[in-house]
Amino acid sequence: MKSLIAILLSVGSLYGANLKAGIGRVEITPAGPIWMSGYAARTHPSDGVLTRLWARALAIESGPGARIVIVSTDVVGVPRAVSEQVAARVEKEYGLKRSQWLINASHTHTGPVVWPNLENLTVFPAAEQEKLLVYQRRFIDAVVAAIGGAIGDLAPATLEYGEGSAAFAIDRRQAAPTGVKIGVNPEGPVDHVVPVLKITGADGKLRAALFGYACHNTTLTAETYQLSGDYAGFAAAKLEQQHPGATALFLMLCGADQNPNPRGTVELARQYGDALAAEVDRVISTSMKPVAGPVRTALRLTPLRLAMRTRPDFETELKSSTPAQVRRAQLMLKLLDSGQTIDRIDYPVQAVRFGRGLTLVALGGEVTVDYALRLKREYRGEPIVVAGYSNDVMCYIPSARVLREGGYEANDSMIYYGQAGPFAEDVEERIVAGVRQVMKDVGR
Ligand SMILES: [Zn+2]
Repeated sequence: MKSLIAILLSVGSLYGANLKAGIGRVEITPAGPIWMSGYAARTHPSDGVLTRLWARALAIESGPGARIVIVSTDVVGVPRAVSEQVAARVEKEYGLKRSQWLINASHTHTGPVVWPNLENLTVFPAAEQEKLLVYQRRFIDAVVAAIGGAIGDLAPATLEYGEGSAAFAIDRRQAAPTGVKIGVNPEGPVDHVVPVLKITGADGKLRAALFGYACHNTTLTAETYQLSGDYAGFAAAKLEQQHPGATALFLMLCGADQNPNPRGTVELARQYGDALAAEVDRVISTSMKPVAGPVRTALRLTPLRLAMRTRPDFETELKSSTPAQVRRAQLMLKLLDSGQTIDRIDYPVQAVRFGRGLTLVALGGEVTVDYALRLKREYRGEPIVVAGYSNDVMCYIPSARVLREGGYEANDSMIYYGQAGPFAEDVEERIVAGVRQVMKDVGR
């Protein structure tokens, strides 16, 4: 038995031998006070730093032209306007096609605004708006530099995959007399799996750990004005502290309708971060599954439809007592006046497959947990990780069930994202059809 395991392990490392990995990282902590994103209730810019914020990049290459760069960022969401600028630069500077890199936002609610993400959440004073434009440029430079750093660092590496679990996420869609409200729902669906990709250098030393979790990065609430990466930031910092020289990259999975429970204090954020780090540490110390090449990638834009809304709807909304709703109505009327489409979202769906050992599906927007549970059910036999919050965070992505039930993720959140209204009822089927296409592209 022992020799069989030894043979399997050596086959594994032989397979892994064709892979190279590289890591790049650039700090993105704002230089001074800046408006924070995620909560509408904030009344002033940040007033300190609790943990430093990072853009961390992991490049993996299986041969000429077969590579992926995964970028993890400590921000609430990266909008399309920003990822398109990064795309143009990394194509020019490093020859990366759009399918060959992905950017994931940790969804920390104690990070800076990445303009124009969540553009209708807050009206900023003019001077603050100017600071956000400066930060947006710095953020783009940092992501491009982190990607370049990762590519420049490519060296032979061994990749292994394993899974653990953490229990602090709870479904947050609580039934109330007025419909579904944000609370706690112990009966609701959760995905407690913690996927871990371990990257070891030729010298046997840990170089990086890519890990994920499906839970809003919102242990800290609107009263917190200190910048931080919340639980995900604490988890990465802890892992890096315990493995000097290694980089820990967090991927936000399909946690749009999941919250840490309980929440509200720095101590809890640190506690969840420590728990996640301990679980990643446990998984990487076990015997994991070897991951080999080739690296195959695909990204497609899937057109999604919003429910029909007309000019008279928005003219009525102009009289609303909710300021954000009035602003949304003004925005929509302006778009309609200039002849623009308001009922369609070009939605990014990406698949990254490593040999036959692992497939990462990266979806745009704040994706509800039903998508991960469904895709994991439908694609069995080979590990699959489903990330949300990738490449463009343009709104929440309710499943058919969540859309039907209503509540914040289905309806109200669309106002803050400056979207015309809720999705049409075929949203889940369109997204799953998009996933089937990219999965076919990578041979699944
Ligand atoms: Zn959110």
